[in-house]
Amino acid sequence: MSLSLQRPDLFRQACLLATGWQEVGDGPRIAVHNPATGELIGHVPELGHAETVAAIAAAERAMKPWAALTGKQRAAILRRWYELLLAHQDDLARIMTLEQGKPLAEAKGEVGYAASFIEWFSEESKRIDGEILQSPNAAQQLLVIKQPIGVCAAITPWNFPAAMITRKAGPALAAGCAMVLKPAESTPFSALALGVLALEAGIPAGVFQVLTGDPKAIGQALCESDTVRKLSFTGSTQTGRLLMQQCSGTVKKLSLELGGNAPLIVFEDADIDKAVAGILASKFRNVGQTCVCANRIYVHASIYEQVAERVVSAVAQFKLGNGLTPGVTHGPMINAAAVRKAQQHVADAVAKGAQLRLGGQQSAMGPYFFEPTVLTNMSDDMLVHSEETFGPVAPLFRFDSEEEVVARANDTIFGLAAYFFTESQSRTWRVAKALEYGMVGINTGLISNEVAPFGGVKQSGLGREGSKHGIEDYLELKYLCLQTD
Ligand code: ADP
Repeated sequence: MSLSLQRPDLFRQACLLATGWQEVGDGPRIAVHNPATGELIGHVPELGHAETVAAIAAAERAMKPWAALTGKQRAAILRRWYELLLAHQDDLARIMTLEQGKPLAEAKGEVGYAASFIEWFSEESKRIDGEILQSPNAAQQLLVIKQPIGVCAAITPWNFPAAMITRKAGPALAAGCAMVLKPAESTPFSALALGVLALEAGIPAGVFQVLTGDPKAIGQALCESDTVRKLSFTGSTQTGRLLMQQCSGTVKKLSLELGGNAPLIVFEDADIDKAVAGILASKFRNVGQTCVCANRIYVHASIYEQVAERVVSAVAQFKLGNGLTPGVTHGPMINAAAVRKAQQHVADAVAKGAQLRLGGQQSAMGPYFFEPTVLTNMSDDMLVHSEETFGPVAPLFRFDSEEEVVARANDTIFGLAAYFFTESQSRTWRVAKALEYGMVGINTGLISNEVAPFGGVKQSGLGREGSKHGIEDYLELKYLCLQTD
């Protein structure tokens, strides 16, 4: 099939090792399909345990000279990677839409977002500063230096095929670490295109490797390695728990970005225009397949019907289709399991008394398309109250008081993102503090950028990515106690 890329070499059916590209051959391989059309896009090699062990050893060798560079030297190389990502934004977006399904404009937006992490952390690499402490003993000088933690592993999901990689590789490489990446099976080509540009930017061979293949075998080799000192994972809570267990044997440092169950609250004093725009942006971006998508939408009883009608008429305007077709606003879901989960949540809600106001089923467009859906008359015993749908289903719950809705919003094992809409200043501060979440959007449904610390509390994960804090996870503190006389 023709990909129509300006730089056809960005599309690699291979994996990226320290020894160079290993092209897909007659051996074990993974097929990658376009979720919009079902068409085969290509294959990547299926690596396993032995290849991962070899890649880790190569990463350790490559890391030494990389860590020995000055922060300024690493910054210059990472800056070139950033510039190349932007220079090839259109091609990278096209590859992403083909394998992931999101509309081209959204894919371009993600490439810009992905590049912003490389830009940010290239700048941060110059600011890895130590400390000189005030010593309680006049004969001792006390110093703290920061050093790269060691070889890092990253396991990333398919919903943001580029940004979840750069958010980890950016700080790792800026800190002087080497990274072994295993991207999601359904979206390896975006990761490999990042690899082409990494080499072009001058990132030395072995500092950034991309291993495609069997998640269990690669994951186990990464987790059980003594050499890998840190694992950064974004994905489901279930897989996160397993990886945490597997890392216990080597007491690895972990960053986990897991599931969410985001509440979005519209108070009676909200600006309704802002609230509706926030619901649409937060709930339906990437057809609901982000871990910060609103999962439970709480609307005050006094404005419930008004907001419901506004949401239904706005969602009815969405144009579902192939992300490469101009004018399409929403693409397919990633696979059949994702569609089944959305179906299951709708069926469960309707069986328990919800009213289906729009959508509710798989679309005639294809097996992975699910109609954007709005449900009203929701209650807290429905599945969607406790489980993340990860699909284009907007369930509207009714509430009467602030105290009640904050308690319901916090009634979950998750704590990633929350949103609320109000024009009251005192309520803004009170509710922002009361919500047990790592991130809170106030009068907005879009909160992610490279400058802010992204991450969750409770079972939504460990650590923060992005921001000036993001690099700390890739550094170790070393305390030096210097006897001066
Ligand atoms: P989803 O169910 O949405 O695909 P996962 O958490 O399974 O979410 O996937 C996120 C990433 O985790 C992907 O790169 C996937 O290949 C990887 N993964 C899944 N299972 C394992 C495992 N047992 N060990 C290591 N990685 C895994």
